[in-house]
Amino acid sequence: MERETIREFVRHYRKAAKAFDGFSGTKIRVSFKRGKGTIESEFPQEEILIRIAVLMRRFLDPKSDQYFKRFWVKFRSAFNDVLSATELSQINTLMQNARRNGPSIVVGKETYTAERIYQLISAGELYVNDELAAAELQRLMQEPVLRHLFWHQFLSYTIAVFEALSILQNIIKREHLHRQSRRSGDVDRCIYCLSGDGGFESEDHILSESAGNEKLVLPPGVVCDQCNNTILSKLDQYFCESPPIAALRVLYVPYTKQGRLPRVNLQNVEFEKRRPGVFRIHAKDRTGEPRNHGRDDNGMMKLTSDFRGRFDGVRFARALYKIGLGLVAHDQGAQRALESRFNAARAFIRGEGTCPNRIMMATTCVPEPRVHCVHQSFDVGTVVILVYCGLPFILNLETEPVVRLSEIPAEFADRFQFKDLLEIAA
Ligand SMILES: [Zn+2]
Repeated sequence: MERETIREFVRHYRKAAKAFDGFSGTKIRVSFKRGKGTIESEFPQEEILIRIAVLMRRFLDPKSDQYFKRFWVKFRSAFNDVLSATELSQINTLMQNARRNGPSIVVGKETYTAERIYQLISAGELYVNDELAAAELQRLMQEPVLRHLFWHQFLSYTIAVFEALSILQNIIKREHLHRQSRRSGDVDRCIYCLSGDGGFESEDHILSESAGNEKLVLPPGVVCDQCNNTILSKLDQYFCESPPIAALRVLYVPYTKQGRLPRVNLQNVEFEKRRPGVFRIHAKDRTGEPRNHGRDDNGMMKLTSDFRGRFDGVRFARALYKIGLGLVAHDQGAQRALESRFNAARAFIRGEGTCPNRIMMATTCVPEPRVHCVHQSFDVGTVVILVYCGLPFILNLETEPVVRLSEIPAEFADRFQFKDLLEIAA
C-alpha cells in the first residue's frame, strides 16, 4: 500500500471529521397508543446533515477509490503487524454491523438494510443520478414513518463507518504510516524563495484544495512553511475567489478545504451550493437577477445570470505562475524547479517583479467537471496549460519565447477564442 494512498485517506478523513463537529447524533422514537402512532425524531440541521453526507461519500461510494471496504482490505494486509487484536476485532465488528445497524426495514417483500438504504438515498435523493432509485425512494418515502426511519438508517450507516475509520486514523497516526520517508542527503530548499530556513513541515497543494485538487501535492521539503502560509496561501485564496473561477468552483467542486460546500460572494451576486446539484443564486441588485429563457426541447429550464466582480489580473497571473512552478517540481522534481531559468517566475510570484511572459486566457468556456494541468519543457521555455473546469489558460514560465496567439496549439485554438489575460484585466 503506497504512502500517498494513506496520506490521501488522512487528508480526507480530517475534513470529514470536521463535518461531525457540533453533531450530537440522532434520536428516533416510535410509539403506538390505542391504535394511534406517533413518531418523534431529532435530526441535525439540514446543513450539517448534507455536509456529513457529502464528505463521507468518498468512503461510502462503492465506485470511489477510497471506498472503505476496499481500503480496509488493503490496509489490513499491508499493516497486519501493527494492528492489535482488539483493534482488529473493533474495526471488523463496526464494519460488519454498519450494514445491518438498527432494524432492517421490511416493506412488502423487500428488506432494506442500512447499507441498502444508504445507497438508495444517495442515488435517489442526494445525488439524483439514478431515476429508478429516485422513483423507488419517492414511493417509499410517501409513508411519513418510513421517511424518518430511512433517514435515521442513512445516518446510522454513515456514523458506524466513520467510527471504524476513526480507529484506523488513530493507528495511522500512532505508527506514523502517513509520513513521507525522506531520502538521506535531501536538502530542504524552497522552490519559491530559494531559502532553506523557512521551516519545512508541511506539504503544499499545487492547486488549492478549495479549487478541488486533492492529488497534486508536493511533499514536505519542497516549499517552505513561511511561503506556504503567507504569500502562497493568499494567492491560492485569490485564485478561488476571483471570477470566473469562483463560479466554476461552486458548480463543480464538492467541498472546500475546510470541508464546507462552496459559495462565492461577488459584487452583484451571491452564489452557493446548497447540496449536490442544488444551487442558490442571490442577486444583490437588478444586474444580478437571473433571467428566465423558458424551457428547451428537453423540458429543461434555462436561466442566465451575469456576475460582476473586481478582477486583479496581476494577482491572478501570479497565482497561475505559482501553480505552474509547483507543477514543474511535481513532474520533474524539485531540483528542476530550482533552476535559474525560473528566477523571473519566482520573483513575480512573490510580488517582486513584472510578469515574465504573456498569459493567454480563453474568453468563453464550456464548463465541465474536470481540472486538467500539464506542462511541457523546451530547450528554452516551459509552457503550462491549465484547463480549469473547461476554462483554459496557457502561459510560459520563462521569459523566452514570448507566447503568441498564433502559436496556440490547434486543439485549443480551434475550440476557443483567446486573449492576453493582462489586457483583459486592464
Ligand atoms: Zn519559501
